[in-house]
Amino acid sequence: MIEKLNTPIYVTQPALPPLEEFTELLKQIWDNKILTNNGPFHRQFENELAEYLGVKYISVFTNGTLALMTALQALRITGEVITTPFSFVATTHSLWWNNIKPVFADIDPDYFNLDPEKVEAAITPQTTAIMPVHVYGNPCKLEVFQRIADTYGLKLIYDAAHAFGVKVNGESVLNFGDLSILSFHATKVFNTIEGGAIICHDEKTKQRIDYLKNFGFADETTVIAPGINAKMNELQAAYGLLQLKYVDGNIGKRKAIADIYRVHLQDVPGIRCLPDIEGVNHAYSYFPVLVDSSGYGRTRDEIYEELKRHNIFGRRYFYPLISQFPTYRGLSSSRPDNLPIATKIAEQVICLPIYPELSFDIVKSISEIISSYQNPSK
Ligand SMILES: *Cc1c(COP(=O)(O)O)cnc(C)c1O
Repeated sequence: MIEKLNTPIYVTQPALPPLEEFTELLKQIWDNKILTNNGPFHRQFENELAEYLGVKYISVFTNGTLALMTALQALRITGEVITTPFSFVATTHSLWWNNIKPVFADIDPDYFNLDPEKVEAAITPQTTAIMPVHVYGNPCKLEVFQRIADTYGLKLIYDAAHAFGVKVNGESVLNFGDLSILSFHATKVFNTIEGGAIICHDEKTKQRIDYLKNFGFADETTVIAPGINAKMNELQAAYGLLQLKYVDGNIGKRKAIADIYRVHLQDVPGIRCLPDIEGVNHAYSYFPVLVDSSGYGRTRDEIYEELKRHNIFGRRYFYPLISQFPTYRGLSSSRPDNLPIATKIAEQVICLPIYPELSFDIVKSISEIISSYQNPSK
């Protein structure tokens, strides 16, 4: 019997840079009095981020949602966009805020990313773009999506909010598609408290994105579009520069935790963990497990409640599906019979705690609770 923990364990806990290092940078800001508007830390952060990630052009934002909304503006996306119901709501909300109709397609059963075949089947004359998500940081079928986009003349915008630092055969996933979006929210692998970015592949697009995130100003008196205010401030950029020094170590700790879960859960009937993919550098942003109640003898929600009784708070990412929220459930593509795999996975998934400071002993206890709670006789 595992005791209830004294302090609650949540699905994540943000990693912060050393306070002394941050106060040093704050002193510089207090001296130069530059707080925002593409200041020195903002410029340095973009340069160092691009280098770290292995991308050509990056523009940092107030948050990932404004980056998504601005990406759609930058490419003048209209009409219908095909996307996944198995994501955080902001993916679809960014379409809604741009007056674009979201069209949901089903996901693949292995890694829960948008299924390219289902996307192709959902294309209409109104379709202008595809917006897949690298769910949990596992890369989408990059070449297949590009081929579909090229064949039908569609733009391809990846929501890469979970895929910070993820590489496929040494190449950043962020270099695929027309644009990719990152989130640096407190709950993500790499945080700037709140923050986000758009990655693009040419200087002119970067220029347009930079205008759009600053009200559309091209110079003091020229406004080229109804832009928004989505600039990252100097305090966050300075904080982000420090985070870059520690992110590799943090991802290493996440990997060690994922390995412990996998070893301890591999023989539990009805419990499935997602294996690493060969040739991929993972970021271990989440640790999802799937609960098949016919093998495990209890449901995902029962595990969720059992963990809560031990003061451990997993999260059912992504349940409910985006297509089930009131704003979207009236769309014809939201019908569960159009999304059978997403519907099933949303019922089975729970994300277990994973963050750099989580102790290995607690990871083992969580695994033990799940293992001893099985009820195969049922
Ligand atoms: C976190 C997240 C976002 C939103 O990013 P914010 O920085 O919180 O605005 C968008 N899409 C996905 C898939 C996310 O996980």
